[in-house]
Amino acid sequence: MIEKIKDFLGFDIKEKKYKLAHDDTFGIISDAKLPDKWVKSTCGYCSVGCGLLIGVKEGKAVYTKGDPTHSVNLGTLCPKGLSEHQMLDSPYRVQTPLIRRNGKLESATWDEAFTKVSDEFKRIEQTHGPKAVSVIGTGQILSEEFYVLGKFVQLGLKTNNYDGNTTLCMSSAVTGYKQSLGSDGPVGSYEDFEKADTIFLIGANIADNQPILMLHLSKNINKKVIVIDPRVSKTAQMADVYVPIQPRTDLALFNGLAYIVIEQGWEDEAYIKNNVNGYKELKKHLQNYAPQEVANITGIDVKTLYELAREFITSKSVFSAWTMGINQSFMGSDTVSAIINLHLLTGQIGREGAGPFSITGQCNAMGTRERGFTSSIPGYRPYGDMQARKEYAEIVKVPEELVPTERGYKYAEIIDAIDRGEIKALWIVATNPLVSFVNQNKFRKILKKLDLLVVQDAFLGDTAEVADVVFAAATWGEKDGSYTNSERRCNKANKAVEPIGEAKSDFDIVLEFSKYFDGVNEMLFPDWKEPKDAFNEWKKVSAGQLCDYSGMNYELMAELGGIQWPCNEENPEGTKRLYTEDMSFKTKDKRANLICADWQPMKEAINNEFPIIFNTGRTVEQWHTRTKTRSIAILDNLAPEAWVDINPKDAKKLKVKSGHRIDLSSKRGRVKDVMVRVTSSVRDGQVFVPFHFNAQLVNTLTQESFCPKSGIPNFKQTAIQLHSEEVPEGLKLEEEIKGGEIAHQTAAYENVLFKEKEIAQSS
Ligand code: SF4
Repeated sequence: MIEKIKDFLGFDIKEKKYKLAHDDTFGIISDAKLPDKWVKSTCGYCSVGCGLLIGVKEGKAVYTKGDPTHSVNLGTLCPKGLSEHQMLDSPYRVQTPLIRRNGKLESATWDEAFTKVSDEFKRIEQTHGPKAVSVIGTGQILSEEFYVLGKFVQLGLKTNNYDGNTTLCMSSAVTGYKQSLGSDGPVGSYEDFEKADTIFLIGANIADNQPILMLHLSKNINKKVIVIDPRVSKTAQMADVYVPIQPRTDLALFNGLAYIVIEQGWEDEAYIKNNVNGYKELKKHLQNYAPQEVANITGIDVKTLYELAREFITSKSVFSAWTMGINQSFMGSDTVSAIINLHLLTGQIGREGAGPFSITGQCNAMGTRERGFTSSIPGYRPYGDMQARKEYAEIVKVPEELVPTERGYKYAEIIDAIDRGEIKALWIVATNPLVSFVNQNKFRKILKKLDLLVVQDAFLGDTAEVADVVFAAATWGEKDGSYTNSERRCNKANKAVEPIGEAKSDFDIVLEFSKYFDGVNEMLFPDWKEPKDAFNEWKKVSAGQLCDYSGMNYELMAELGGIQWPCNEENPEGTKRLYTEDMSFKTKDKRANLICADWQPMKEAINNEFPIIFNTGRTVEQWHTRTKTRSIAILDNLAPEAWVDINPKDAKKLKVKSGHRIDLSSKRGRVKDVMVRVTSSVRDGQVFVPFHFNAQLVNTLTQESFCPKSGIPNFKQTAIQLHSEEVPEGLKLEEEIKGGEIAHQTAAYENVLFKEKEIAQSS
């Protein structure tokens, strides 16, 4: 009342609210939010891995600010990082375990939740075998948590039907690295963005998705940035050269550039001779990728193709970075290898500023890749390698026969197995497939076949809402551990505040849940109490492997602002680049492999009924399926709903303007009421929609087409139709689009210009 009277009389009642104070670290900041302490940590959103400080006042997180001393971000943060503390108090937080009773999710005790789930898991195991229980994990939790989860699932529950949402984004990079270089592991460092003469960004819209990487690019004054993308993304708008490639023709492009390199004699013969297998086979294979044919497929003219290939010979150092535009493809793994082929042919690898480089998606996608139990035994040990299996069993002191000999089902195969009735229980950890998985109408029907759906999450997202049991998880800022970023840098993440309500860290959830299974906790986690116990075991497990953490400890990580693996006695402060002169490739004969792979036309071709190519992606303001960002006002106000980018020509045909609303349909369903944004950033015949939003569930439209090697879905190209109010029947397929985009014919080439000489290889 007093405030109202003061307001009525014109007194300044906001003085207290807007009063400023001095902070020793950051200077002038809000007095009302002047923290009692700052806790050093790492951003929990994307794979860039920015260092930050969480300001804590009276037990609440009140600020997130960039750590000025951290080499990744030098004090800067993107909008998500700057507002990260606000998600801790989200109204969507799950504060207690929940059990569905009479159709409704109700609060329960931890003992009730653990008892219900463990009883069901045991019943299913006895009736259908252990593999009828399945788990889908995440790249969002800490490495220590992911390690205990994998160990418990594979060695405790004894099911290898375990995968993660990383298979939806990074698995093609993993498989590509493995088949080309012998092991997963990004080759370079962010520093290479600063050192390279030429930087290719391929299907990588870093300005939206990894914005702080732009900082490293901007430090490089003399660089040439070449962006290859079907869309004139924000990143493309900042490029020196933008190459508008036809959707999903990238594998043909890289094969074509390799053709030109060989045709022109631009290869690094000495490098190939000493380090690379498969030159002759690749040369023969590339006969079908002569420049004119590649120009027909990709829409990139022959002259530009030669100019792009020439960069590999005229630039001292070429750095090629890619992300989901390459990975999320039914040819994803081979496209990654085709990029690596170019670097191997020209010796553009293992040097400052030179190399192929996958940019990861989630904050800890990299940590999950190394910890394994999905696509490998921990430490990049291959399934099927009996010596590696024995070695792992001995290190962690478990019977060897407990360690699986083969990979179980990949993500999409798990869904198929549920559909067949083979998998009866699914435990989903920190991911929200009810927005992120393809072909949602079918997927939602399949999930209903489960006997038990358990969701472990910090937020009540779409998937948690339909679960039978929800484990209430703590989130970033409420727990300790580490994340590994895209450049193999392991960063410490620290607890700043207590978990909300009765939520527990994912580490504690798994450890306590394991006690409900006879002897499992004692065998797998003897006397384990804190994440450091998992980290210490991981150091032993990773010792001597490519992802060697044996020289790391939490204190050194904090002191150095993260450490890049391998870190051991020889490299006590970590390693910036892999496959330098003194590091051989991880294949059996220590030589890299050139991979022969063929481009294929899109699995779902556009046609008269569905004449538009539909592309999905992200926007800087939102994170994945918005479980973390939807309650952060500044982010949600900036991007509150999905929109569809449409070229002016198509907008004219549909008789729509920016701000109008249209429907989108594919063979699989319809998405209604999406706001139009008319823009030349997409070409006619193509549209782009961000995938974050459940109100405009774009994965209703996407197809089930997967890379056979990595299992990644082809999220990026779907044949769709657009329906406006004035043109409800939609657009017609035009002949010129047809010619350019679906009628690719591979021609036979008789006069291939390959030079006659062969490179002798010393393998
Ligand atoms: Fe966080 Fe990524 Fe933004 Fe850095 S760039 S602040 S890691 S979301």
